[in-house]
Amino acid sequence: MTNLRIPGPTPVPPDVLEAGARPMIDHRGRVFGEILNRVTDRLKYFFQTKNDVFLLTASGTGGMEAAVVNTLSPGDRVLVVSIGAFGDRFANIAEAYGAQVTRLNFEWGTAADPEEVRKALAADPSIKAVLVTHNETSTGVTNPLADIARVVRETDKLLLVDAVSSLGSLPFYTDDWGIDFAVTASQKGWKVPPGLAMVSVSQRAWDAFAKAKMPRFSFDVGKAKDYLERSQTPWTPPVSVVFALDYALEGLEREGLENIYARHQRIGELTRRGVKNLGLELLADERFASNTVTAVKIPEGVEVKALRNLVEDEYDTVLAGGQGKFQGKIFRIGHLGAVNDEDIRSCLDVLAKALPRVGYAIPAGRSGG
Ligand code: PMP
Repeated sequence: MTNLRIPGPTPVPPDVLEAGARPMIDHRGRVFGEILNRVTDRLKYFFQTKNDVFLLTASGTGGMEAAVVNTLSPGDRVLVVSIGAFGDRFANIAEAYGAQVTRLNFEWGTAADPEEVRKALAADPSIKAVLVTHNETSTGVTNPLADIARVVRETDKLLLVDAVSSLGSLPFYTDDWGIDFAVTASQKGWKVPPGLAMVSVSQRAWDAFAKAKMPRFSFDVGKAKDYLERSQTPWTPPVSVVFALDYALEGLEREGLENIYARHQRIGELTRRGVKNLGLELLADERFASNTVTAVKIPEGVEVKALRNLVEDEYDTVLAGGQGKFQGKIFRIGHLGAVNDEDIRSCLDVLAKALPRVGYAIPAGRSGG
């Protein structure tokens, strides 16, 4: 089977695929209603929240858009903390809907400094919300979200979090950290195909919702709430993805949150150690290296495209390229969701074989394992 080592869509195990292949049912019928309620309740455990949780028919970007349009009004001032391409995307979404965005950018490969967030908030008391990425998939860095949240929670600002590539894989405590709007997506740590954004909405976010004036329709969480009270979604949901998620959550629950977090940490470390053993350099500041995705600097003289094509064509292994300004400068190894040690060992073995074929001499004594 192909070793799909991109940070989403992640591999979907055969039994989850099979669960998604059930015949179609009435999305407004009793059976689907039961599944929807069960999935929503189960997700609260993974979000570690008592807040409302909703399924939106969208990819993660739609969930980010939902965070913005349901809580803000045009002209509102927001602080976007960006450490890479997805932080920039959050800022672009807020701008597209007319927010006045202050960008607090950190160098790609580093994490955000909570003290800088504190200073930026102190410098502009009119800021209404802080938008931040938990795990920056484009650089392989996990922000110290607990510390950033602590700073934001010293104020009454909203905290909107892109947890697309972390929730369900890395420690995430919606209620303890005071996250007002958290967003994840089915194709990441959940072992499920793309098609669903899953979001949580706090009371503070509902209070903001009542006053928010940005245009919204499909992603209106008020409508999602009304319909969920009738065990439905406002619009047709991706029924097959919901079947798959229902089944996958059962397995993830059996594994248990702490074990899931430990598995991702172990595999993250295995990946970083293996990459360094090949003599390669990580992009991320290692103190904040992500346990769901590793970004690797491409050695001098090697083309990312040549490496990715070779490993795909001859070793049935798929790596991700770089994004934005890191296109052609890094490649990325995804390790979230359905991933085990063997998948990573195999990927490292493939790199050890393929890199010399695209112009990189592995330093003597190094092996990748
Ligand atoms: N944020 C992060 C951190 C992501 O990793 C991604 C997907 N790679 C997104 C947002 C966007 O999600 P989607 O592609 O599902 O719209």
